[in-house]
Amino acid sequence: MAILVVGSVAFDAIETPSGRRDRCLGGAATYFSLAASHFTDVRVIGVVGEDFGADEEAVLTRRGIDTRGIEHVPGKSFFWSGSYMKNLNEAQTLNTELNVFQSFSPKIPAEYRDSEYLFLANIDPVLQQDVRRKMPKVKMVCGDTMNYWINGHGENLARVLRTLDGLLINDTEAKLLAKQNNLVRAARNILDMGPKSLVVKHGEYGATAFFGESAFDGEACSTPFRAPALPLAEVVDPTGAGDSFAGGFFGYIASQPVLTPAAFRRAMFYGSVMGSFAVERFGTERLQHLRKEEIEDRFALFRQLSHLD
Ligand code: AMP
Repeated sequence: MAILVVGSVAFDAIETPSGRRDRCLGGAATYFSLAASHFTDVRVIGVVGEDFGADEEAVLTRRGIDTRGIEHVPGKSFFWSGSYMKNLNEAQTLNTELNVFQSFSPKIPAEYRDSEYLFLANIDPVLQQDVRRKMPKVKMVCGDTMNYWINGHGENLARVLRTLDGLLINDTEAKLLAKQNNLVRAARNILDMGPKSLVVKHGEYGATAFFGESAFDGEACSTPFRAPALPLAEVVDPTGAGDSFAGGFFGYIASQPVLTPAAFRRAMFYGSVMGSFAVERFGTERLQHLRKEEIEDRFALFRQLSHLD
């Protein structure tokens, strides 16, 4: 099974209480792909500038990620800078430069057409919708977004939401999108906007899933589900935790024959596992060299963490 992902491929400048980096490979599609590549085949659609070289591309291809859909054009790659000095759970955006994404028109390589799963990672909802329209036959489509797009591009985002099987979003952004401060009511409002299921990410407090009536074929699931996050002594860099969660979550789903409530719950745990690795080092460093045994050991740890006799 293969996942096609569209989203930002970027350079980030990050400051956290553990230090700073002026130029790290980042972007939502980058973190997502690296995390998902431990579970299934991944194909990326995106655009980069002349500053994105062979070393950056190799970070993805070394993990078997198909990068033929990453276009190289003149100009600078997407650039984002953020600070976690005030709050490790929520980035304070210092600067967003869309650069080459501003005039990007996604093209789907012929080799990508048979992808069964589609992930619309964080990027302009117009681009998300464009790729969604070009892939009408996918089995399941999930997506993510953030305050930057909710605030200024609400109508375009609403069009994307109507086409989603699942939306993954931070809790502050869920409340912003729903214009509702109570999480349960916010979740209901968002499910009414289209997605069949909703995963709300709470940073160091885990993630909660809410389900609409048609979330699963033939099986109703009305109780929300909460997966914990791993308590860590040091969070070096929270950047990409949400996208890595999404990669682990959707990668696991794509590796399963059918989507049952139990598979969805296990996927939430694999999402938490990948998020917990992402924050241990700056940028994508930890995800690049992760081994399958480390993932399974941590999954077992998550089981112990939340098991009730
Ligand atoms: P997160 O998983 O939420 O921490 O996502 C972090 C990544 O999102 C960073 O690597 C950024 O490059 C990327 N990013 C930040 N702002 C945006 C935006 N407005 N659109 C798309 N990607 C973004």
